[in-house]
Amino acid sequence: MDPAGKTAVVTGGNSGLGEATVHALLAAGANVVSLDLAGGAPAGAEWIACDVSEPDAVATAVAAVEGPIHMLVNCAGIGGIGPIAGPEGPGDLGAIRKVIEVNLIGAINVTAHVAHRMTHNPPEGPDGERGVIVNACSIASFEGQEGMTAYTAAKAGLAGLTLVWTRDLSRHHIRVMGIAPGFMATPMVSVLPDDFVAELLKDAEFPKRAGRAEEFAEIAEFIIRTPLLNGEVIRLDAGTRPPARTHWSQG
Ligand code: NAD
Repeated sequence: MDPAGKTAVVTGGNSGLGEATVHALLAAGANVVSLDLAGGAPAGAEWIACDVSEPDAVATAVAAVEGPIHMLVNCAGIGGIGPIAGPEGPGDLGAIRKVIEVNLIGAINVTAHVAHRMTHNPPEGPDGERGVIVNACSIASFEGQEGMTAYTAAKAGLAGLTLVWTRDLSRHHIRVMGIAPGFMATPMVSVLPDDFVAELLKDAEFPKRAGRAEEFAEIAEFIIRTPLLNGEVIRLDAGTRPPARTHWSQG
């Protein structure tokens, strides 16, 4: 699908991977709406304040997007780490629930409303496409490290749902893909100590560096433009296979 003249919704579009995707789609000639808690949408994009974990807020926000929605990029997310249990007690179930509500339920909420809108789009182009959905998954979708109960529950869920949603929506000519980044230099991870980052990056094969948000955005745009890409999660991780733990996760 050519993004030019079409409308994209990007959740978490005011920072990091989502922000870079907003820039790329604007440059490709799309109208872009960022659904984000925090302000600061890129110039040229519309911002609708929305907590993606709140179903009513999502319904209102998606209803406020004018005209057909052709593209959805689910980027809104938060981090969170902690053991499932230890001698001192069970893990922090409230914190675990919060990450799952934002990273997984949030994507489900937005996809439900946007995909419903997409089913009513007129078919476009030689394949009669109606929409494309891209999920920001993670290498933790596949190899969660120690302490990643919440994040891996959410990201493994989102990777799994990429195929389920493909199967739900293909009859409406809507495609669904995921991108599973490794370590990307964004505000989400800017709080991490340098030696922790170095330890994470040593497990990359080549190149041993943090990904740039623009590299995520390029893949998202490539997916949107490539009709045969459907039902798959593309790793964007320089061949990284994370080990069970870092010395940081062991405390
Ligand atoms: P980021 O913190 O830079 O951006 C996340 C955005 O989501 C922010 O604008 C934030 O306001 C928004 N957001 C948070 N909670 C929200 C909510 N409840 N409702 C609406 N918006 C909300 O993070 P990022 O690094 O760009 O991450 C984007 C996505 O990519 C996340 O889902 C993250 O889990 C995933 N990811 C990031 C990395 C990485 O290394 N940075 C790696 C793999 C996957």
